[in-house]
Amino acid sequence: MKVDTLVKNGRIVTSVGSAPKSGKQMQNVRIIEKGYVAIDGGIIVKAAEGEPTKMEAKTTINAEGRVVTPGLVDPHTHLIHAGSREDELALKLKGVPYLDILNAGGGILSTVTATRTAGDGAMISQVLKSLRRMLKYGTTTAEVKSGYGLNTQQELRLLGLIHDLNSLQPIDLVATFMGAHAIPEEYRNDKDAYVRLVKEEMLPRVAEEDLARYCDVFCEEGVFDIDDTRDILLAARKLGLGLKIHADEMNPMGGAELAAELKTTSADHLLASTDEGLMMMKRAGVIAVVLPVTSFNLEERFARARDMIDMGLTVALATDYNPGSSPTESMQLVMNMAAVKLKMTPEEIITAATINAACAIGMGEFIGTIEEGKAGDLVVFDAPNLNYIPYHLGVNLSNTVIKRGNIVYKAQE
Ligand SMILES: [Zn+2]
Repeated sequence: MKVDTLVKNGRIVTSVGSAPKSGKQMQNVRIIEKGYVAIDGGIIVKAAEGEPTKMEAKTTINAEGRVVTPGLVDPHTHLIHAGSREDELALKLKGVPYLDILNAGGGILSTVTATRTAGDGAMISQVLKSLRRMLKYGTTTAEVKSGYGLNTQQELRLLGLIHDLNSLQPIDLVATFMGAHAIPEEYRNDKDAYVRLVKEEMLPRVAEEDLARYCDVFCEEGVFDIDDTRDILLAARKLGLGLKIHADEMNPMGGAELAAELKTTSADHLLASTDEGLMMMKRAGVIAVVLPVTSFNLEERFARARDMIDMGLTVALATDYNPGSSPTESMQLVMNMAAVKLKMTPEEIITAATINAACAIGMGEFIGTIEEGKAGDLVVFDAPNLNYIPYHLGVNLSNTVIKRGNIVYKAQE
């Protein structure tokens, strides 16, 4: 058998199947102590125990006993924007209240201003830099939301740039339209008019030009309430988009309940969700996407991922990369915090960062496990076993990252 790429002598760690894993299923991970993965035409053609026999490969990687996992999937990012907000951290350390920072022109609206005035080239360079970092840290597929344009022309521009970025580098990007990320300055006193703009002008254009797979809304006090969120998401569904919701991040808004009512693909954040809301999500099959680095960075409470899994929910992990509350590209950092702060087991963590994350962006059929027929996206971790990955923190444990059978990152040793 002739193949493009062969990874041998690996400790292969993977979930099984294309469906999201919920509750106790998240613990079920297949481990092949010593095995190999063969990739041809970008697709896994064989993953098995032992030594490959009668196999000829153009490229052979000897994993030397290291852990081999599916490529990591980051199902919640706000990558496409200009500028950064490090000065806000410095001000916060001096004791300046967040509201004063906001009133001085900081916060999310400062990123909106920076994004609106940035040229396409500058923004593409900035995001490419982030994507290169993500790839190095093992992320091979990511979702990217618009939401720093906040007018029709700018939101369409951002979604167009996500499509351009998809073809400029190896990570597969799934685009989400999030015109309802914040209320722009121009509509400060007329939120209802902005909701109408999102529903009646932006969404039809996004659908017509086929610019996004999902629509997401920031459902929170002082931003978009439950009725706004329902209206926008129902309009998106009519146009054929999948649904996501930023739910119950700060207050128990009923976001989890709304996600269940609408059977959204995922509900994300969920720090303040009630047991009732979570049980409704479970019954409706909504994936809970939890974002521990955001909680850490804002010194907020953490989502109750342990309870969610014990209740039988499907949990996925993501960076929430954004310039305000989670400026990190590293799913490995997320995985460490999932262990230390969310009390998830290493098996649950790898499930949440691969197959469940893939299902949260509608990609479970194609990626997220090491099985024949799935994309040849793998990470060889410089780790002797699965437990080591969330344990050894703050450095990059990737040894080799493989995207569709191609080596896209190799650590210098
Ligand atoms: Zn977010």
